[in-house]
Amino acid sequence: MAIRSVEVIFAPPAPHMVGDGFRVHHFFPDGVIHDKQRMSPFFMLDYASPFTFTPTDTPRGVGVHPHRGFETVTIAYQGKIAHHDSAGNQGVIAAGDVQWMTAGSGVLHKEYHEKEFAEQGGLFQMVQLWVNLPKAYKMTAPRYQELTKAAMARYPIEGGEVEIIAGDYKGKKGPASTFSPVNLFNLHLQPGATCELDFPAHYNTSLLVIKGSVLINDQAASADQWVLMKNDGESFHVKASEESIVLVLSGEPLGEPIAAYGPFLMNSWSEIEQAVVDFNQGKFGVLADH
Ligand code: MN
Repeated sequence: MAIRSVEVIFAPPAPHMVGDGFRVHHFFPDGVIHDKQRMSPFFMLDYASPFTFTPTDTPRGVGVHPHRGFETVTIAYQGKIAHHDSAGNQGVIAAGDVQWMTAGSGVLHKEYHEKEFAEQGGLFQMVQLWVNLPKAYKMTAPRYQELTKAAMARYPIEGGEVEIIAGDYKGKKGPASTFSPVNLFNLHLQPGATCELDFPAHYNTSLLVIKGSVLINDQAASADQWVLMKNDGESFHVKASEESIVLVLSGEPLGEPIAAYGPFLMNSWSEIEQAVVDFNQGKFGVLADH
């Protein structure tokens, strides 16, 4: 197997607010990279780096909005997030939990800080990924997977573990059901621990350093940096310089056209126009604002 090498290590771009609750660094698309296909099947990576919110009786977040054609994956590291959607699903996720919402043919949802967390205030840190759906599944029925920390698969390594959300690591399979090959892991590493990773060379692969600092092969990356890997080989390793958490994304590119407009992610502009028409006609269901 050939070594997969680092392409670029990006510092987090200046944050912006999504609603009033998510202070995010927008890595892609059109953040630090501009090719919408570069990380396919992942379409978007927004990262809320650690930020302390003051107490409030009115939870901060994003009000009712639609999605169609992809999945929103929210990973909580600190703080709590509440979710409600027009398919009738709701949930609260806390540190280590993941919600995996398949918008498919269309949902309305809202995303807020959980009420008690909002009232107490405190440190908040999370990731939101948009995972594109293959053409054949863009109009699949909406689905909601709440994946608790306890439900994650774990593969112990010396000085740490690989926490598998989706895909598999050395035969251990994560709990998330996906529509195309997607690997999503959290590496939990003590100082000096090394994790070997290998994925097919054509799988688009990157890492987000959530905590600590690591060497990827021999290149240093620290907290809040995003590491884009080349597609020049299969295997690489991550070695912790201090206690670290690293989110690993690797997936098979879909190789299909992308038409992206706001909250809709389709294959053609006529499908985007149809999404707008369907949304305006109320076909995404009903969800109250509060
Ligand atoms: Mn959303």
